Amino acid sequence: MTLSVEERIGILADAAKYDASCSTSGSARKNSPGGLGSGAPAGICHAWSSDGRCVALLKVLLSNVCAYDCAYCVNRRSSDVPRSSFDPDELARLVVEFYRRNYIEGVFLSSGVIGCPDATMERLVEVARRLRLRDRFNGYIHMKVIPGCSDFLVLQAARFADRVSVNIELPSAASLADIAPDKTPESIFRPMRTLARASGFEPRRLPPPAIAVHGSVHAAGNGDSLPDRRFPPGFSPPPPDVPSPVRRTPDDSISVMDARMRRRRDPSSPVLPAGQTTQMVVGASPESDAQILALAENLYLAYDVRRVYYSAFIGTQAHPRMGSPRPPPLAREHRLYQADWLFRFYGFAASDILDADHPDLDIRMDPKCSWALRNLHRFPVDPSRAEYAELLRVPGIGPVSASRILNARREGRLSERSLSRLGVVMKRARWFLAAGGGGCRFHDDAGALPGPAGTGAAGPSPERFGLRRDPLSHPELLRRFLEDRPRGRDSPDQPELPWEDR
Ligand code: SF4
Repeated sequence: MTLSVEERIGILADAAKYDASCSTSGSARKNSPGGLGSGAPAGICHAWSSDGRCVALLKVLLSNVCAYDCAYCVNRRSSDVPRSSFDPDELARLVVEFYRRNYIEGVFLSSGVIGCPDATMERLVEVARRLRLRDRFNGYIHMKVIPGCSDFLVLQAARFADRVSVNIELPSAASLADIAPDKTPESIFRPMRTLARASGFEPRRLPPPAIAVHGSVHAAGNGDSLPDRRFPPGFSPPPPDVPSPVRRTPDDSISVMDARMRRRRDPSSPVLPAGQTTQMVVGASPESDAQILALAENLYLAYDVRRVYYSAFIGTQAHPRMGSPRPPPLAREHRLYQADWLFRFYGFAASDILDADHPDLDIRMDPKCSWALRNLHRFPVDPSRAEYAELLRVPGIGPVSASRILNARREGRLSERSLSRLGVVMKRARWFLAAGGGGCRFHDDAGALPGPAGTGAAGPSPERFGLRRDPLSHPELLRRFLEDRPRGRDSPDQPELPWEDR
């Protein structure tokens, strides 16, 4: 049966939607009579350019025929889904047509493995080559690398595309072997190295960060290979080529934020101006958030990856050999993105955010609040004296508000109101700030705890518990103020509050 172009776009755009490397619009709004435009459900997604502009991309697969059998993927060869393909010339013409009609400003190109990696990558490169050289297309091109293809084709992709990505897929070599058995760590890391060099960055070989698990030290990925084990609770020896315990040298311990600030980039570079990115499937395998974040941190440092995307595994795609894994809550993906933000803009290391005693992110709370509650000895911070790095660690203070505080305090005293005006989220920050020389009363107007579940009523005030006088000595109570979704008092996992009957 011959499918129309619209039907094929429908199939191939739908098949591309699970790639999180650029977010979809999620809109299905139709045009109305006399109206203009639509939500374009067929594969238009949005990405952000370096100057903050939102650009519309055609997100589509060249083909959803795939010779591989990755158990989490709807396009795997054993999956019973309608299949379709474009040829490179057809897809290039379609992109130009969409561009001329002003639907899109760029394209996100990926594909299932048609036969072998080189044959598939050649076709993807051919689409980009025709767009750039024949059609003189200057729009944005993001291209996926097919793991295992030759270095030559990776370099061709880097030549024609603005951004290229190689999906890391799973957080350990053991999970990769179980779940995506056609891929190997080398088939993923080799193109990453090639792309890093193509963009002028010499890949670094980092010793693996050490994660202590019940007294043992484990390697969690060395930036040049996947950790080979999943670190089950209990002892699991590190891989043979990794000395244990491993200490990072001072140069290795540079934060992701500092590494990004030191790296000079040229947005008008003819090769790979938007760098490389990667994506990890979360929840299809048993690795903890600590392992996932340790690996992500090394990818930033070792390969100059611009973004690591986390894609929550969706159970309906699962291969029968995975059994019936419970898909992770979407909130886990959200918390991983928040933790990733802490790497890139707040100077946190993976080992700051999680450790052996806290291997997973708290779903109910922002990771920075969670870190602050575990490190109360570092608070309160006096905003009129603290260094920039100290301010960044205060929940509710970000890079912009921290910079504004440094400027504003030269002019005079800081008050709760002035901090609010500077962009500090006082709802979170108030508990961690000291009045210091500024004479602020940061704990005023703290609001009340949520009342009984479902009643919408306000609960007891913080003053009743002495929080106003000494909030940092009541971490469990403070936790209730910091959780994103307040729970009712009758929730079964409500922490014990012995002073509640006072
Ligand atoms: S290679 Fe794996 S992840 Fe990619 S389309 Fe094929 S089955 Fe899906």
